[in-house]
Amino acid sequence: MILAQSLEAQRQLATQQQLDISKAIEEQSELYWANHPIDNEWSIAKALEGVPGTNSTQPAMQGRSENHHRHHHHHHHNTGIISEVNYPEHHQYHNHSRLGVSPARAQSQQPVPTPPGPPPVLPKKPDMRSHAPKLPPKIQIEEDIHEFSQGLRKLIVPLRLLDRFLNIVRPNTIKNLETCGILAGVLSRNKLTVTTLIIPKQTATSDTCSTTNEDELFEFQSERDLMTLGWIHTHPTQTCFMSSVDLHTHCSYQLMLPEAIAIVCAPKHDKDYGVFRLTDPPGLQIITNCRQKPLFHQHPGEDDIYTDACDQGHVELVDLDLDIVDLRKR
Ligand SMILES: [Zn+2]
Ligand SMILES: [Zn+2]
Repeated sequence: MILAQSLEAQRQLATQQQLDISKAIEEQSELYWANHPIDNEWSIAKALEGVPGTNSTQPAMQGRSENHHRHHHHHHHNTGIISEVNYPEHHQYHNHSRLGVSPARAQSQQPVPTPPGPPPVLPKKPDMRSHAPKLPPKIQIEEDIHEFSQGLRKLIVPLRLLDRFLNIVRPNTIKNLETCGILAGVLSRNKLTVTTLIIPKQTATSDTCSTTNEDELFEFQSERDLMTLGWIHTHPTQTCFMSSVDLHTHCSYQLMLPEAIAIVCAPKHDKDYGVFRLTDPPGLQIITNCRQKPLFHQHPGEDDIYTDACDQGHVELVDLDLDIVDLRKR
């Protein structure tokens, strides 16, 4: 009830504001005409001076109006008076039509009957709308969407991938060694789907891991037409975040495939996993252009470099089957 009253009050206020603006336009228009007196010198008789066959005024007037105004003219046969219909978008530029009185009548000294044409009509609603301010907040939201997820294809990740990966790599995690896996899958109907988790041969420390024998990994994927859609790795003791080493590793994945993701699992911490991607811009560009030598280093604008890919709507965790291939045992 209170809401309804408030809305009614707002509606009334808006109507009043519209009326105020209309009035302001009207007043400005009056001011304009005060400074631009109508042209009393013009007359049909003068205009037709020297024109052959001027018994009828109609052809000459029509020719004039078509050339200069694109206005329609009404010819009143009973009086011989020509008056213009006043179109709102044009009326300010035609002095002699201002009062809805024809030039001939303006010239006349005789008492004038009620003008047959409609009075000048000021533009109201259409004019107001054309000057309505744009809404910056909406534009801002669209830019945000564009920055992070517009144009990216949906990436479907099997929900059980996380638990199964953690189970398989638990021996490393207990030894405080990172483990990484490759998220491989297919493109179908414009959706990318992770179908296979590949655990490649690798070396690891407590805060790094890197694949070895990459030829074997490449061969396995190409034989099965499996695309590389991202990667997953553990942080045995650290929290769930992307280290500078992770950012540089992931940059290669995302340059190959804009939808590529990095999943980080931190089993010893509350938030035990995250699905990330570099922002584009600025993260992808910052990391691509980074030439810092130390393995771990700071990046300018650290907060904007990567983002949660699930929050951006481009990744969906779905209850799907998953193949797991452990190349370490081959
Ligand atoms: Zn990491
Ligand atoms: Zn860097």
